[in-house]
Amino acid sequence: MYNRDFRRWRCSAIKKRVLDVNFLEKDPEHRTRLFLGAENLKKVQETKVLVVGAGAIGNEVIKNLLLLGVREIHVVDFDKVTESNLNRCVLFTPDDVGLPKVTAIANKKGWFAFDNTIIPYNSRVEDLSESVWEQIDLVIIGVDNDAARFWCNAQILAQERIIPYINGAMARDFIDFSVHVPPYTSCLVCSWREDHLKHVQKVFASCDEFFEQVVPKFPTISTYTSIVGGFMSHMAIEVIVHGDEWTQNVDFATKNSPLGKYFRFNFNTWQMETAYIMPNPQCIEPFCRKKRE
Ligand SMILES: [Zn+2]
Repeated sequence: MYNRDFRRWRCSAIKKRVLDVNFLEKDPEHRTRLFLGAENLKKVQETKVLVVGAGAIGNEVIKNLLLLGVREIHVVDFDKVTESNLNRCVLFTPDDVGLPKVTAIANKKGWFAFDNTIIPYNSRVEDLSESVWEQIDLVIIGVDNDAARFWCNAQILAQERIIPYINGAMARDFIDFSVHVPPYTSCLVCSWREDHLKHVQKVFASCDEFFEQVVPKFPTISTYTSIVGGFMSHMAIEVIVHGDEWTQNVDFATKNSPLGKYFRFNFNTWQMETAYIMPNPQCIEPFCRKKRE
């Protein structure tokens, strides 16, 4: 009698557990919540992210951030989708060719399980309204030129709030990215010299759309995009979750924190090279110097 009752009890307990597991498997955010914790996931969900550049890196980062739970993403890019983008941009399909890149991305809202808002700005970042910079909490910079990087850096530093940002790029032999939270860390141009800035501004002034169309493009493939976009998205989540705790620790630069660091994965040596970028009190960016006062 005892055995039969026990067996019955055990069967019903196992059945209940199976039902519980099935219930959890129906929650698309269950595994992320297990990874981050409910409180940290909430932080991620409430962060408004601006992605500058809707190219290969922008595609990858937006895909990752939406899967990770970010609910509001602003994306700016002036360019249109071409066939040559389709080898490495996860959110573009052949039907998107000819559309503004930001529109093609915003149209993919329904691809994701969670409610999301993708706000597209089909313009150059230099023309992005001040009101956008004022409302965002974190910036991802995935552009292909230093003039746009310089502009983003200045805009972020001009805000009264402290806004973390992650810059990333791809080259023929490496991908690289860096994490900035000035005034706690260097800004994106702390390591630039005045003559580099002059060169960047000269190139920018001479660029027109014709030039941009005919300038030779370097080779690139989807794995590079996934690697750099994956790292940048992961850093974004790390900064959202741990940023406050790290910046309150004066020794964060020497600790296990990515803040203020530059990372390069080299495809020739197969090594990740890391360097801490010293904040520069004589930085060429006046907003950087002002922020440190
Ligand atoms: Zn600086």
